[in-house]
Amino acid sequence: MAKSSSDTAKRFISKKCPNCFTYMPLKAKECTACHAKLGDVDRFGMASKPTNWHGYFVAIAAWLVFMLYVWWAFLKE
Ligand SMILES: [Zn+2]
Repeated sequence: MAKSSSDTAKRFISKKCPNCFTYMPLKAKECTACHAKLGDVDRFGMASKPTNWHGYFVAIAAWLVFMLYVWWAFLKE
């Protein structure tokens, strides 16, 4: 039987914030010290960073607006 990823998580009783290296409970969704969003514990006992889809979306939207502005300001005849 192959070991599932949940077996790995059970080896840890706490996880470390990747931002400030504070220990916190495995179930914590947010760091108590720096309020970073936290994912599940990885095999090194560090909390993974959840994918920030909102951040990606905002970054892409900001780029599109910037490109549109450049086009409008300099390239449009
Ligand atoms: Zn933290």
